[in-house]
Amino acid sequence: MTEIWFTEKQTDHYGITMKLKETYVREQTDFQDLAMVETEEWGTMLLLDGMVMTTDKDEFVYHEMVAHPALFTHPNPEHVLVVGGGDGGVIREILKHPKVKRAVLVDIDGKVIEYSKRYLPQIASGLDDPRVEVIVNDGFMHIHDHKNTYDVIMVDSTEPVGPAVQLFTRGFYQGIYDALKEDGMFVAQTDNPWFKADLIRNVNRDVKAVFPIVRTYWANVPTYPSGLWTFTLGSKKYDPLEVDESAIPEIDTKYYSPRLHKAAFVLPKFVEDLVK
Ligand code: SAM
Repeated sequence: MTEIWFTEKQTDHYGITMKLKETYVREQTDFQDLAMVETEEWGTMLLLDGMVMTTDKDEFVYHEMVAHPALFTHPNPEHVLVVGGGDGGVIREILKHPKVKRAVLVDIDGKVIEYSKRYLPQIASGLDDPRVEVIVNDGFMHIHDHKNTYDVIMVDSTEPVGPAVQLFTRGFYQGIYDALKEDGMFVAQTDNPWFKADLIRNVNRDVKAVFPIVRTYWANVPTYPSGLWTFTLGSKKYDPLEVDESAIPEIDTKYYSPRLHKAAFVLPKFVEDLVK
C-alpha cells in the first residue's frame, strides 16, 4: 500500500513529516484551510493553513500550560475568556477550577468548533458545559466590546497569519488590558525561540508597555515548531512567581503540577535574552 505522509514546513527549509492513516475533513472555511487527519504517531490531528494545531497524543501539554499557571495565580478567577481555542482544549482545563463561574470562548471560525466536537471529542468535551458560552466572532472585536469584564483572558490563537495577525499587535494588548478587571491577567501563546525569536521579543516589549507584571514561561510541545513553546503572561496585580506553590492543589493533569508552576518560568539563557 502506498504510504501517505503530511509535512508541515516550519521554515522555508525545515519541517516535520508524519505518516497519515486517513483524512477525515479537508475544507476551505471562510477563514482558513481546515484539515482533520488521523496520524500513526499522534492520533487525530487538527491542521489550519497547513499548521499543526492540536493532536490527541500531545494536546494536554499545551492546553494545561495555557490554563493553569494563570488560574492558580489569580485568587478568584470567576470570569474567564478564551480568544481562539476552538478545539476546546483550554476550556476543558479551565473547567477543572471550581472558582470559575463563567468561561467564554470566542473563535472566529465556527467550523473549527464543529469539527473538533466531531473528531476530537476528548479535547472538545467541555464546550457543552453549562458554565461555558461559545461565541463565533473575531476575538479582537469581542474584547473591545467587553471592557472591565474578565478576571483572566487566554489567547489561544493561531500564529500571526490570516485572521490572527491582529491578535499579536500592541493595540490588541491594550484592548486586553481594558477588557480585564482592575486585578486581571492574561496569557498568550507566543510561539518558539528557534524560528520566531523576533515575535517573542516584540510581544514581550509590547506587553511590557501595557502591563506592570510580565512573565514568560515554556513547555515542551513535540508537534509544534521546534518543540520548545513559550507563553507570555501579563498581569495588573498578581505575580505567578509570588504564588505559594504549597497551596496549589494537585488536580487531574499530565504535565502541569504545583512543582512545575514556578519551574516553567526558568528560561534557557538564549530565551532569557529575548525577554530581558
Ligand atoms: N494551540 C494552537 C496554536 O498554538 O497554534 C491554536 C489552536 S486554536 C484551533 C487556534 C484558533 O484561533 C483557530 O480555531 C482560529 O479560528 C482562531 N482564531 C484565529 N484568529 C482569530 C481571531 N481574530 N479571533 C478569534 N479566533 C481566532
